[in-house]
Amino acid sequence: MTCKAIYLIGFSLCLSAQNASALTLCGKLAQGELISGHETNAHTIKLGTKEYQATPDGNFILAFGRDEKAAQKLTITYKDGTKKSWDIKVAPTQWDIQNIKGVPPKKVNPPASAQKAIQKERTDLGKALSAQSTTPLWKNGFIRPLEGGRISGTFGGQRIMNGQKMNSHQGLDIATPMKTPIKASADGIVTLNEGPYFYSGTMVVLDHGQNLSTIYAHLDSVAVKQGQHVHKGDIIAYSGKSGRATGPHLHWGASLNGVRFNPQSLLRFDINKNCANL
Ligand SMILES: [Zn+2]
Repeated sequence: MTCKAIYLIGFSLCLSAQNASALTLCGKLAQGELISGHETNAHTIKLGTKEYQATPDGNFILAFGRDEKAAQKLTITYKDGTKKSWDIKVAPTQWDIQNIKGVPPKKVNPPASAQKAIQKERTDLGKALSAQSTTPLWKNGFIRPLEGGRISGTFGGQRIMNGQKMNSHQGLDIATPMKTPIKASADGIVTLNEGPYFYSGTMVVLDHGQNLSTIYAHLDSVAVKQGQHVHKGDIIAYSGKSGRATGPHLHWGASLNGVRFNPQSLLRFDINKNCANL
């Protein structure tokens, strides 16, 4: 029953019934995945310690990190200030182990002289990933940023570089020849086009609205300007091997509200598919 239908009976009934509508979640509830949801009159959505904003029509996106806990509470705060919670289960994902040899030693154990550059890289990326544009440019889905290429490193893999245990991989690596055109995976706004940075080399970040960003790293050159609006499929850069790379490839990353997730889930992302009412 919609609020409009019962509005005829009385305004107070309309208010109490507006929060009784079903919560819809679309996508795979699993570690490393991006999902979408809808709940009429939702204002903010809290998952774990993170808070997400809904669009005025009640649509939202949520991301599950690599090490997301299995049992989660999802709480919606409605436009009238009332709240409702659901217990949800996040399925585990099996992450692989990636053995990488031949990395320049100073890129595995950076010298003290590199610390300033590493700090600048973190600051610049953090700033770009905190873009707060509200237009949901993510709504029409995503494409792979380049044609062909071999997947040389999956998201979430435990990395061992030159025999040394490192942090897990935060993106998807696609091996591709130098200067391959790299496309915007969705409509977006350029929030970073700088480099070469110590780890990521030359990098572009696109903001797709509501704090969802995609990252394109180890580039040879960029073809866009800071603040530029791009459309899905536009060429934004050319692939390279800048930063910490053993060969030419694209590192494609994805971030929502500070949560890094698997960019491959963007290719499965569809606000109308695999939906369930809770
Ligand atoms: Zn990578």
